[in-house]
Amino acid sequence: MLSTPTKIKDKINTLWQRVGNTPMIEITYSYRGGPEQKILAKDERYNTLTGSIKDRMALYIIQKAYEQQLIRPGDMIVEATSGNTGIAFAFIGSVLGNPVKIFMPDWLSRERVELIKGNKAELQLVSREEGGFLTCIRLAELMQHNERVFLPRQFENEYNVEAHRETTGREIGHQLLLMQIKPDAFVAGVGTGGTIMGVSKFLKSLYPGMKAHPLEPAESPTLSTGVKAGNHRIQGISDEFIPAIVDLKDLDKIIQVNDGDAILMTEKLALELALPVGISSGANLLGAIKIQQDLGKDSVVITVLPDSNKKYLSTDLFDDEPEKDGYISPEVKLLQCRTLKTN
Ligand code: PMP
Repeated sequence: MLSTPTKIKDKINTLWQRVGNTPMIEITYSYRGGPEQKILAKDERYNTLTGSIKDRMALYIIQKAYEQQLIRPGDMIVEATSGNTGIAFAFIGSVLGNPVKIFMPDWLSRERVELIKGNKAELQLVSREEGGFLTCIRLAELMQHNERVFLPRQFENEYNVEAHRETTGREIGHQLLLMQIKPDAFVAGVGTGGTIMGVSKFLKSLYPGMKAHPLEPAESPTLSTGVKAGNHRIQGISDEFIPAIVDLKDLDKIIQVNDGDAILMTEKLALELALPVGISSGANLLGAIKIQQDLGKDSVVITVLPDSNKKYLSTDLFDDEPEKDGYISPEVKLLQCRTLKTN
């Protein structure tokens, strides 16, 4: 029987030692001067290959591809991405000896470009005029007939969902069990949708009543409209179409967050709680707070902090962001953050 070459298998096992088992943290806040409330958040910066939640998905898909002989040593990995996936594949590919080619829209942060190139991947940037994200996917697909190319196809690959069901979701389930609490809702911004679909699949199998809320930028409500509807600054989510792995029928109400509000919340998380996270983390926390205001003070609402702030130095995250009417973050007082002893 064919199997993954032992050397590759050993390397993949070593890589898994650096991925997953991330801490669960508890963020205490008050909203509009109200009582103290708590949100639970999985701190995905602690995926230490490339520092984002996408380490999980990229490693899982490559492991499955090797097991199924869909990729061999030396084959090229080709993917369309808004950044973190490209960074993760570039790193994993360089460790396993697979060259990597990435197609990425040209409006994403400079740090993403440098990290992908720095990990020796070939990078092709695509402008809005050239067709943006959808063209990235088309260009990747054009390479599928090359015999020595593997396409992870993160937007349609069920192993993306399975990666989050079996790692992120299972870990959260285990952490909740240790804390002896039942979740009421899980909230996550949707890029490929792997996180929301996979985590909710696992948690709903244990807690069928739990709600799973996908989150999108108010400036570009693709999930609500089905199409690219505008530009936004929450890098990593809302990539212009509804991914094939997302089934909105399995999910609950879509939550919208303004990108400026997400930036303000992300700044607050760094300055007030010493949590230097990325913009989608601020968006996710805002979404979780919104849901908790509906569900009640003691509801258990969980989210994820997908990455750190380091890839956003060149973005509006490090500029002065104006407060606007309707924003939630100016009404939120962040009080405390503690890491729960659940690992
Ligand atoms: N936030 C960031 C920073 C990301 O890179 C991604 C992945 N594109 C997401 C959120 C969304 O994760 P998913 O693809 O699992 O929906």
